[in-house]
Amino acid sequence: MEQTLCIIKPDAVKNSFVNKINSIIEDNKLIILKSKKIKISKEIAENFYFEHKEKPFFSELVDFMTSDYSVVQILQGENAVANYRKLMGATNPDEATEGTLREKFAESLSKNAVHGSDSLESAQREIDIMSKIFD
Ligand code: ATP
Ligand code: MG
Repeated sequence: MEQTLCIIKPDAVKNSFVNKINSIIEDNKLIILKSKKIKISKEIAENFYFEHKEKPFFSELVDFMTSDYSVVQILQGENAVANYRKLMGATNPDEATEGTLREKFAESLSKNAVHGSDSLESAQREIDIMSKIFD
């Protein structure tokens, strides 16, 4: 069964949306296999978002992701990667389809409530990076 890496980002944790988001995730045939609330370290955040290293928003992204508690989760289900990406909605909440997690819960483009792996390859890489936090 396919797995994907989900992060409920600091804005959504602070706004008390964790239970609402997880209820929607479970309603969409995704099992929450592992879940841990942690403050992501700078080292992990920089490695995790390595593909964006040269982007102008990289330091803002890392600062935000390390600013407060996140909930890091492994989700499992049929087509989990694509299903969960669809459920999240577009990166920019102003462009997210109605009913998606970002449309419902995101504050802005940078504080956009949730992360999800964008391919099977990314999912494996991200699960590997986060595996130590579940030990
Ligand atoms: P994520 O990887 O967090 O699931 P995504 O795959 O939809 O989001 P990416 O292109 O990977 O989008 O961007 C990673 C994150 O960087 C986005 O979720 C967003 O918070 C932030 N980001 C992307 N573009 C911008 C931008 N132009 N300005 C500020 N922040 C941005
Ligand atoms: Mg991404």
